[in-house]
Amino acid sequence: MIERTFVAIKPDGVQRSLVGEILGRFEKAGLKIVGMKMQWSDKEFALKHYTDDIEKRRGKKVRELLIDYLSEGPVVAVVLEGVHAIEIVRKIVGATEPKSALPGTIRGDFCHVSYDYADKEELAIRNVIHASGNREDAEYEIRLWFKDLELHSYKNAHDLHIFK
Ligand code: ADP
Ligand code: MG
Repeated sequence: MIERTFVAIKPDGVQRSLVGEILGRFEKAGLKIVGMKMQWSDKEFALKHYTDDIEKRRGKKVRELLIDYLSEGPVVAVVLEGVHAIEIVRKIVGATEPKSALPGTIRGDFCHVSYDYADKEELAIRNVIHASGNREDAEYEIRLWFKDLELHSYKNAHDLHIFK
């Protein structure tokens, strides 16, 4: 049940100086940072992150907007480890649409726009953070963003409370 998941603080999150605030929320929940780096991706890399799957789910236009969004500045890429980490991180991150994301979640607290507005204005929804949606995506995204040697296994204080 101990899982690893991938998050990226998107360019708007970095530009708004929200890195510490966001990472603090995961640390306080007891998730362990096992990999972390800053990376300014080019469009080719962004296309590997936002695969055909996003085009099937959200359409070609949204994928194009997302490629520009992800490559417009550096992101902070992080791998987090913990019990049910994939689901827990998505809960802390909140819903995709900032308008629907609940207060207390990262997206609910730090952004507010709606699908309607983004679609009308043809804007990428700048929702501050990416988090893997499921186990398959987490494995793919961790492998895409990190080399094995950049991921670390170590003990931290939270281990005292989750291992016998
Ligand atoms: P999530 O990031 O919550 O997993 P998706 O994988 O469905 O959501 O979409 C990826 C990203 O695409 C979203 O985080 C958001 O930045 C952007 N996005 C999704 N839908 C739209 C839309 N209709 N218009 C603009 N941007 C969108
Ligand atoms: Mg997704």
